[in-house]
Order: sequence, then structure tokens, then C-alpha cells
Amino acid sequence: MSEKNDYDTDPRLSILNVADKCGISYIQEGKRFTAVCPFCGAKEGHFYLTPDDGKYKNVYHCVKCPEHGSAIKLYSKLHNCSTKDAFKELMGFEVSSSTINFIKEAKKAASVKLNCIAYIQVRDKVYRNLIRKLSLSQKHYLNLRNRGLSEKNILENGYKTLPFDKKLKKKICRELIEAGFNLAGIPGFYTDKYNNWTFWTPKEGGFLVPVIDYLGRVQGCQIRKNVAKKKYPWFSSSYMENGTQCNGFIHVHWNKEHSSKKIVITEGALKATTAGILSNTTFIAVPGVNSINYLPEVLKLLKPQKIYIAYDMDYKKNEDVQKALNKLKWTLRVNRYNYTQSVWNEEFKGIDDYMLHIVKNKELVAK
Ligand SMILES: [Zn+2]
Repeated sequence: MSEKNDYDTDPRLSILNVADKCGISYIQEGKRFTAVCPFCGAKEGHFYLTPDDGKYKNVYHCVKCPEHGSAIKLYSKLHNCSTKDAFKELMGFEVSSSTINFIKEAKKAASVKLNCIAYIQVRDKVYRNLIRKLSLSQKHYLNLRNRGLSEKNILENGYKTLPFDKKLKKKICRELIEAGFNLAGIPGFYTDKYNNWTFWTPKEGGFLVPVIDYLGRVQGCQIRKNVAKKKYPWFSSSYMENGTQCNGFIHVHWNKEHSSKKIVITEGALKATTAGILSNTTFIAVPGVNSINYLPEVLKLLKPQKIYIAYDMDYKKNEDVQKALNKLKWTLRVNRYNYTQSVWNEEFKGIDDYMLHIVKNKELVAK
């Protein structure tokens, strides 16, 4: 083995050990680890430590500030020394056993075998069958009712609680396989250490939010988690054996007339469907304000005459949302679409909250 290879795998030079020696505490996010950025102070979810993701080895980067580089650079920057001295110092330290464990975990996560995503026809069938086999908890049912959805709306849109029971999950997977479905390539599904198929439930729990394409097919699912932080992750399994990564699918909710004359763009499938139902308007949802890559493609299919943007009203205070909004406007302009930005009473953050307010007021007037 060459000398370089030794340094590549030396735990003393692991980005995790370096973070450790810099007093950075991190949490695992699959192949990567996230921490508070030591340079700009950005919260977790912006600053990343990557031991090895198949592409990069032992690097750090922040999406909020320009800081990025190798493990040795991280140490030298934070200790205000040369990279040469950083290297020497790092080689002289012992690696703590907890860091060794994290390095092992990272190695495991990096070596998982992933599947290519299945065709949409296949995903649609598997997800619909999964949805049929799941139930909706009372808590989640009430959450959806409080958004203004009827029992029928809830049923039709396939919102279902993700179970925690491992046996139940394996049983559902067995039934799906016996019914002739191949779970390889379906985001959210993976095999456990006994090589049994199962699917992901976040540890905080949550319910499935199907993300529908313009033909009404379930492309993938988001999860509405039971906690406020990172509330709407994809139903994905990209860190698990035999798992599949989910893409930035755009959700389409048609109005009753199935018309795309007027469409409203918002963020998140649940919000779009709820606001769409309450106002009988065609809505499309980007999965996150920053993930609009597939939007032009969908707009080309829908051929809208009028586009409204209805991002959350906190864009005025939230710099990230403001930036994302500008990116969306730019994308629309480049693709030659005119748009109008919707504004409403700031008391109501989301377009769905505002629509619900309007519907309730109408009911009040009618009474
Ligand atoms: Zn930073």
C-alpha cells in the first residue's frame, strides 16, 4: 500500500477526529455528519463533515459561508497554524474510542448498496398498495382535519401514518412482494440486517404525504414528521442497504375542472393540496423552496396561462426564503413565464392557513 493510502484511512486524519480535536460536536446524517459551522455559526444542517461519500473523502463544507476544504485545512484554520503543523499535531494525538465508533459507522453507511430508482408506473403501484395497507392515527387524522380537509379529502390523498412496529412493516413488505411487487428501486424501502425488506419510519414518527405527478401518479412521498425541525423529509432510503434515493419531485394538485389556465406555485405537497382543495385552484408544489430543478419541465407539460407564486409570508423576515424566491422568479423569467407574487395577511404564514381563514369566514357570513 502506498503512503498516501495510509493517510487516507488513518483515523487520526479522519475529518471526524479533526472535528473532535477542534471541539466541534456533530451528529450523523447517513454518510455525512452535520454540526454548527465554526466559521459562520450556521445551525446544523448547513455545515457538513464528510468522511467518505464515494466522491469526497475527509472534507468539510458549509452551505452558508464559503468555508470548505480538507481535514487538515480545518484544523489549521481553527488553530491558526500552517497545514504542516496541523498535520504534525494531528498525528501526535490519540483518537478517542467514541470517534473510532463514528468512523466505523460512517464506513458502514458509505458501503451500502443502493438501487436505481424504479419507473414511475412501478412506484405508483407500490406506493398505492402500501397506502392501502397502512392506517391513519387519530392524532394525524385530527391534524389533517384541522387544516380544513374533509374525511373524503384525507382518504383520496392517501395520507397515512408510518408505523413503528418492525414486524408489521416486514409483514407489509412480504405481502407486497407476494403480490408481485419488486421493492428494489422504491425510495423508502430497504433491507435490514437479516436481509428482510422493510421501510423507513423517522424516529420521531409522522405521516406519508404522496407527491403526485400531472397524470395523478404517486411519484414518491414526503413525510410530515411529528416535530418542527426538518418537518418534511422525503420518504427515502438512501443510507440503507438496498435503499433508493428520492428525487426532487414536483407535486401537482388539479382543481375540479382539471385546468392549468391558472396555477399557483407553493412549497410542499400537503400545503399545495390543502390550499388547492380549499380554493378549488390548481396548485403545484416544489418539495422545498430551494429544490426547483424539475419545475421548468413540469410547467412545460402544464402550459399555464397565469402563474402565481405563494411562498410563505415569512419570506420578508427569512433571508433564505427571500433568496429562494428570487431564484424561482429568475427561473420563471428565463423560461419566459410571467408571474404574479401573491401576498396576504401576514398573520397567516402559509397560503393554506390563509385559505382556511377565508373558508371559515365565508361559513361565518353564511350563518
Ligand atoms: Zn459557515
